[in-house]
Amino acid sequence: MSIGILALQGDFEKHQQAIEACGHEAVLVRRPDEVGGLDGLIIPGGESTTIAKLIDRAELAEPIQALAARGAPILGTCAGMILLATDIEDYDQPTLRLINATVRRNAFGRQVDSFETDLDVAGIDGEPLRAVFIRAPFITEVGPDVEVLAEFEGTIVLAREGNVIACAFHPELTEDPRLHQFFLAAGRTR
Ligand code: GLN
Repeated sequence: MSIGILALQGDFEKHQQAIEACGHEAVLVRRPDEVGGLDGLIIPGGESTTIAKLIDRAELAEPIQALAARGAPILGTCAGMILLATDIEDYDQPTLRLINATVRRNAFGRQVDSFETDLDVAGIDGEPLRAVFIRAPFITEVGPDVEVLAEFEGTIVLAREGNVIACAFHPELTEDPRLHQFFLAAGRTR
């Protein structure tokens, strides 16, 4: 498969390495004409306000929405999760609206900027997944078609609506390929 990594800002290189380690081609995406031939797309962590502005400037929203509409797997991690959600709490910012969910930015508070924990993930077998959270959001509300895949202390940190996966943590920062493999298998017609 040819998997795009949105490379406008943030930690796209680690995702590129993770996809290559899974045996697939990883293409850094910065322009609309680079989206059409993809079999999937990752929107990395970074600063969601900045990435949103750059998506707008590069006119990338429509091609990404079209890719999602034809069933290609889409993964948003951390800031990427914020950009996939339909709504951001107390924040008026356009998003891609690809998963019916409300997110809260910097949801774990300023004191706990980052932390790691082990998560049980629905659909991922074996030992719990090590999850690295960095100024992470979480999901406060989901629509009826959204499947909650993992929670941390009662908050939703991983969810899926069909081929679209929203992940509050950074699977690209561990050596464990299972979340990227799960994403690669998530494509289907909605
Ligand atoms: N706090 C960032 C935001 O709101 C997300 C942090 C991250 O992607 N690691 O955009």
